[in-house]
Order: sequence, then structure tokens, then C-alpha cells
Amino acid sequence: MRIGIFGGTFDPIHIGHLRAAQEVAEKLALDRVLFIPAGCPPHRCAPRASANHRLAMVKQAVADNPRFEVSDMEIRRAGKSFTVDTLSELARADPFNKLYLIVGSDQIAKIDKWRQPQKISEYARLVVISRPGVKISAVKKKPASPAFRSLGKTLIFLPVSLLDISASNIRSRLRAGREVRYLVPESVIKYLRSHKLYQ
Ligand code: ATP
Repeated sequence: MRIGIFGGTFDPIHIGHLRAAQEVAEKLALDRVLFIPAGCPPHRCAPRASANHRLAMVKQAVADNPRFEVSDMEIRRAGKSFTVDTLSELARADPFNKLYLIVGSDQIAKIDKWRQPQKISEYARLVVISRPGVKISAVKKKPASPAFRSLGKTLIFLPVSLLDISASNIRSRLRAGREVRYLVPESVIKYLRSHKLYQ
């Protein structure tokens, strides 16, 4: 099977994530996209919502898409959520699957901080999707860092619809008591309202 791996903090998941995953799945003819919320993201401050709430919101968001699935593997694993560990676990579970790691253009720009980028590229093709703010052309031109060069031919640059939506903007809207309709799926809005998240 051809499987997209979409990791993130998902604090909370939003339409930008979902639309991007859908377009990648169509363009690369993926059988599944596996959303993997990070338990403890390595390179950023602590998520605002607990791992269980973030996981529950991702489950709500993908429930009506048969191609989308959720894994709690990073939340169950102790310590920081390193992508290389996740991919190695997935590759061991089924060595015949083809893995495609989906990463936003803003994240790939920080590749020098990743753990074992070379190893990552042995487990999966890296799919760099466009995101407002960081153009794919700029990422391609990035001064050749050793980590970036080590990925070489494993990189797939894939433009997707540019939706200027971020979880941090959604959190600040909610803090300010503003509307987040059409930025976040209705089911997720219900969840975060009933648990009083991000207020
Ligand atoms: P925050 O604003 O809190 O930093 P975020 O919106 O960037 O959060 P993450 O959960 O950190 O969301 O992102 C997970 C992955 O999804 C990353 O690879 C990120 O680049 C990508 N991504 C997030 N939002 C978009 C978007 N609007 N379009 C395309 N990719 C996105």
C-alpha cells in the first residue's frame, strides 16, 4: 500500500491540514493518509491542548473520510516524538508499504534540526507541500545544508492549494472569543467548545 504519513502537533487540526492531505492523496494516488499527532514535539513549546484532546480532535476531523486514519503511536511512545522513530516503527510493522512523509514547506526549511534526516529518507519519500509564507521555490534554492543535500532524490515538491490557516491563529481567535467556522471542521468546533479548549 502507498501510505501518506502526516505528523503534526494538530493543536488543533484545521482545514489547511485536511485539504492538503486530500490533495496529496489524490496527486500521489495514496491508499491511506495516516495522521499522527505528536505526543511531545521535539522543536517547539508544549502544545496548548493535551495529547488526548488533540488526538480526539483529529479523530473527529477525519471520521468521514475513508482514506484518512489516525494513529496514537507518538502519543503512546514515551519521550520526544522523533519522526525517525515513528517511520522505523511503521516500516518494521509492514516492510512492503511505501511511505510518503508529508511535510509543510515551513517545516522542511528547519530540516537541519531534525534527528537523522538521512535515515528518514531511507524509510520514506519526503513530500514537501506548499504553505503560504514559505515558497517551494525558496526551499529548493535553500543554501545546500548537509541535511538538505542528504535528502536528494527522495524529495517530492508538491504544490497544494495555498490556505493561509494556522493552528496558532485559530488558538488566538478562540482566546479572543472570535469565530473559527470554516477554518476548523464543525465536529472539531463542537469538541473544543464542549471541552472549553483554547479559551
Ligand atoms: P502552529 O500554528 O501551532 O505552528 P500549524 O498550523 O503549523 O500549527 P502543525 O500541526 O504544526 O500546524 O502542522 C503539521 C504539518 O502540517 C506541518 O508539516 C505543517 O507545515 C503543515 N501545515 C499546517 N498548516 C498548513 C496549511 N495551511 N497548508 C499546508 N500545510 C500545512
